[in-house]
Amino acid sequence: MRIVFIYSGAENLGIEYISSFLKSKGHQVFLLFDPAVFSGDILGNSKLLASIFNVDNLIIKKLADLKPDLVGFSAYTGNYRWCLKIAKNIKEHLNIPIVFGGVHTSAVPERVLQNKFIDYVIVGEGEYPMLDLIANLHKGPESLLKTPNFCINDKGQIHINRPRPYIKNLDVLPFPDKSLFYEKIPLFEKHYLITTSRGCPYNCTYCSNNMLHNLYCHENKNIRRRSPDNVIEELKRTKERGKASLIVFCDDVFTFSKPWLKEFVEKYKVTIDIPFFCSVHPSTINKDIANLLKQGRCWLVTMGIQSGSERIRSKVFNRRGNNQQLIDAVACIKDLGIKISVDNIFGAPSETEDDLEQGLALYNQINADRIMTFWLTYYPKTKIIDLAYQHGMLGDEEIQRIEEGYTGYTHGIGSVSNCKKMIYYKYQLLFQLRSLVKNEAFYSVLSKFVIYFPLKGLLTKFLIFLNAVKNRDAKFFHLIKYCFCTKKNIP
Ligand code: SF4
Repeated sequence: MRIVFIYSGAENLGIEYISSFLKSKGHQVFLLFDPAVFSGDILGNSKLLASIFNVDNLIIKKLADLKPDLVGFSAYTGNYRWCLKIAKNIKEHLNIPIVFGGVHTSAVPERVLQNKFIDYVIVGEGEYPMLDLIANLHKGPESLLKTPNFCINDKGQIHINRPRPYIKNLDVLPFPDKSLFYEKIPLFEKHYLITTSRGCPYNCTYCSNNMLHNLYCHENKNIRRRSPDNVIEELKRTKERGKASLIVFCDDVFTFSKPWLKEFVEKYKVTIDIPFFCSVHPSTINKDIANLLKQGRCWLVTMGIQSGSERIRSKVFNRRGNNQQLIDAVACIKDLGIKISVDNIFGAPSETEDDLEQGLALYNQINADRIMTFWLTYYPKTKIIDLAYQHGMLGDEEIQRIEEGYTGYTHGIGSVSNCKKMIYYKYQLLFQLRSLVKNEAFYSVLSKFVIYFPLKGLLTKFLIFLNAVKNRDAKFFHLIKYCFCTKKNIP
């Protein structure tokens, strides 16, 4: 059968895995891609530029030429509205079955299925359900009424079937189908995206893993990992192609197992030896782990701090570890000369200015190379939504809008007062200044002035840019190149 995936804005490993899996079973898979430079999270939203670079009609035209048997969308909360728009457009012009999967779909399948132009809805891991769907496509949705992972409308009654067990042995899966995205955007190959695991051992209240742990509550182990040899085999092929200058490990937490990391690094440094980037959780970091990262040529580590307030971290975010452990974890990485970028989330339910002040005090001590600040985003069916509801930051209507994919940033949806927003803007600016200016006396003088600067948002963006330049941030410059290098004939 011929299957077309439609996606926008970035490479997607989930689609690449499903594509190679389906191809290994004899199916043909294609991709239509919207670069979404001006309509996604890349350069911010510009209605005018987004309309000039709009490719919606081109997608329909190319889809008509490809004549697929099935069209697939992988929806997360941030792209869900875009997926709906394209899917509706397809149904109005072409009679092709449409399937929705992805993390947003898994969270609210019944809501997704309410859209009449969507024929099939899959929850959870997609490889085997896609195979089931293709096998039963000619029989219609009713034939999948009892099939795991499907959400089916049976004469007005919605059935959500439990997902089948996780794929335990990830080594059985074919390597992700990189050609799908590289044919559209050759630049993607410069930063090779790979994952060595699926799932996360932690359960932070704001993360989509929190929803997935509930969806797969019948599983006693959420995290699975490929063998080091299997990962090395994939990377050898990348190395042979000679185009990747950075390996990007997309694992939620790359450092959760020391024995695995030890074996992997020993093999990686003799066979691959390309600088890499990874994400870590502070409680997985000690001197031994940091040493292993260094031996493997780790260039940059990103670590979630999320809040300098121990109360917010433990009571609101469900993240372990006191401030001293965070300071020690960052020091382990920095002492070895590995760059470290830390993440901070603004807008937690019950967060006060005192919590933000504690954050500033913590960042003064840990001296990370970069502090990335984000607004809390509400993802459907995560625990933080309940907490925000209890604190009066979200009401029923707002929760419904989040489930409908109207991206749920705390300051855009829910009740963060204007006065509180101004406080956040001040700390956003100070956190950026802190990561840029290392000299204490200079920082102390500057910080007294910048808080009176009227255009704090603009100044914050400028400092983010300076921080990226100062750190020679390969990922930032990669993103800039992406905006200018989109190949002709996209989608
Ligand atoms: S550690 Fe990261 S990936 Fe894991 S649950 Fe927490 S936020 Fe999500």
